Formats: sequence, C-alpha cells, structure tokens
Amino acid sequence: MAAYLDSVPMSGIIRIRDMMYSVADPFRLDQGDVSFDSPDSVKSAMARAIAENKTHYLQTAGVPRLRELIAAKLRAKNRIPIDDTEEVLVTHGGIHGLYLICRALLEPGDEVLIPDPEWPPTAGNILAARGVPVACPLYESKGWRYDLDELESKITAKTRALYINSPNNPTGGVLAREDLVRLAAIARERSLWVISDEAYEDVVFEGEHVSIASLPGMHERTIPFYTLSKSYAMTGLRLGYVSIPDKVIRDRATKLLFYTASNVASIVQFGGIGALEGPQDCIEAFRTELRARRDLFYDGIARVAGEVFSGRPPAGAFYAFLRIDPKWDGGDRSTASISWRIVEYLIKNGRIGAVPGVDFGVNGEGYVRLCFAGDRKELNGALESMRQLFGVRV
Ligand code: PMP
Repeated sequence: MAAYLDSVPMSGIIRIRDMMYSVADPFRLDQGDVSFDSPDSVKSAMARAIAENKTHYLQTAGVPRLRELIAAKLRAKNRIPIDDTEEVLVTHGGIHGLYLICRALLEPGDEVLIPDPEWPPTAGNILAARGVPVACPLYESKGWRYDLDELESKITAKTRALYINSPNNPTGGVLAREDLVRLAAIARERSLWVISDEAYEDVVFEGEHVSIASLPGMHERTIPFYTLSKSYAMTGLRLGYVSIPDKVIRDRATKLLFYTASNVASIVQFGGIGALEGPQDCIEAFRTELRARRDLFYDGIARVAGEVFSGRPPAGAFYAFLRIDPKWDGGDRSTASISWRIVEYLIKNGRIGAVPGVDFGVNGEGYVRLCFAGDRKELNGALESMRQLFGVRV
C-alpha cells in the first residue's frame, strides 16, 4: 500500500545538502534560512515556559491563547473574516500545515494547479496525498507571474484546487492584487478550493501582500497557511498555522495533526505567544536588512558574474533566481541539465551552495537559486569566490 511513495521524488535540496558536507568552509546559499536570531520576545517566553514547567501534553489544535492571537492576526493583518478561533490549527512549521491540508482535502486523482517553478514540497505533498500536481508556468517577463488565460485553460473536471504561493519560492515573484481578483473569480466560477502558501507574507520589497481569503466570497473556499519561520526567524523551532473554515476538512486535519504530532511542542507554542504578543518591529527590521542584502548581492553578481547570470532583483522572498547564460560551457559536460551542471561547478570549485532551477519544475531549467538571507560576510565571501570563478566584467 505504501509503495506509491517510492515514486514521490525527494527534493534535490537533500542531494545538495549531502554534497555540501564534503566542502570545507562552504557558503550556504543553498539553504532558505535567515541569519537573524529569534527576537527576545520569543526566547524569553520559551525560557519562562521551561521555568514554569510547561512541558506537558497540550490541546491538539494548539494552546488557546496562541490560537486567539493567530485568529486576531488573521483578521487585523490579513483581513480574513475569521468567524471563530476554532478555524485555526497550530502546526509543526509551514510544511506540516501543507501536509495536513493535502491529506485532508484531496481524493486520489484530484488535480491541483501549482506554479512552475515552485518549492518542491508542494508537489511532493500533493503526490504523497495521491493527488496530481499540474504545473502552470510563471513567466520571468511578467515578474514571475502567471498568464491567467493559460492557467484557466488547464482546469479540467478533475481540478480540485488552485495552489498559490506569493511571494513565490524560488522566483520571489509577488502576485498583483488584480491577479488575485481574477484567480478568486476563477475559483468561485469553477467551484475550486484555493490553497494559499503565505510563508513569505512579510518579505515583500515591491508591491503589497494580499491574502486571497480576504477577497469577497473567498474566505469559505480558501485554506491559507503560514509559518513563523521567516517573519520571526524561527526556522528550527518549527511553528506554523493553517486556517480551515470548513468543519469537515478541519476535523480531518485535526485528526491528522493528532496522529502525526499529538500537539506541537509546548515550549515552541509559548515562544509563538511571545512572538505575537511582543513588539513587531523585528519584521520591518528583517525586511530592511533583507532588501539591503538583495541589493548588495545583485550589484555583486552584475560585477563578478554578469556574463553568466542575469535577472532582476525579486519583489519578495529572499532568493536570487538567476538565468544562466546558455552559452556557459564550464563544468562537467556529461551532466545534461545546465542548472545541475552549474550547481555542481559552484559547489566543487567555488564552495558555493546553490539549488538548480529544474528542481523547482521543468520551467525552472536554465536557472539557479541562490539564497541571499545569509549574513553579509557570507554573501561577500560567495561573491569573491564567484569573481575568482567567472572573472570581472570590464
Ligand atoms: N512555503 C514556502 C514557499 C517555503 O519556502 C517554506 C520554507 N522554506 C515553507 C512554506 C515552510 O516553512 P517552514 O516549514 O519552515 O515553516
């Protein structure tokens, strides 16, 4: 019965991580982690929870105070008309929310339209739930947004949901309000669910983040999910949440939450309360610093590797998704994919971790993803290494 999982691919990110272990003093631009520390509000709340022995089982769906704070945040910040705190489930990071949603929503063979390129666990979780991911291209020329006529043409009788991820990993593309208005109209007309990955809601440099569930008639058909990983630099703590208005689907997801986690780690949930009750200025501070790192990195790339890589700085998230000059002829020619070839080259010769664009979908072939959320020392080190590999443009 479990053999179908053998055909669910593992992300190439794991292969790269293994390759990176053999590199001394690597530049870890492959990992989507921020260099920031969690704010004091999180750390002191966790320390207090430990001192107060908050180390016991908790309610499966989450500590009531945390769920209340999340519901209030969804209403005030995301403008989602949450009726009831019961809609909110606290999850073991965003990826666990994604797992619960796919398993609770999809029947075998249900199609889900996903962006291409897209963060690999999206297709992986749809496949693991026996659904069928249907790739819909994002276009670099449109700021990594869809051609929405094309998207609509991909809807079939089997389509169950539209999956959106804005800002997008890996491209950093941010959907415009008008895109979301049209997507919402499509979802309503075709009676589709919308799954909305809003992991990077706070990392928008140009444009605005709009939650599709805030648009008229969309709350009831949208399942948004979030994480505290990026907004509060809590990647390793594992804390996220989903909001599921439909009781049948939510009850299924709650069962899965119980069977996979019983409850999310108590200390981490109290850390989440600290994050949401505490000062919110870290969000703006992180964004400002990430914008500076984005600009530093793109300026550097233009100087040291402009002959090989091109692309406009992204509107959101913290990845440089760079086009590889098709004429680049370095690396091991026996590797057919240029995006894998350049990644192997960067790792072996430059100690620079990177992820091949093709790992995010066929439309990502010809690109490479480099994360610019590491500290400036790491970014400058990687740029200096690239200068040695590719030379300075005159
Ligand atoms: N969605 C996207 C697009 C992501 O890039 C990530 C993290 N890399 C997540 C969701 C989930 O984040 P986490 O599991 O760390 O909360």
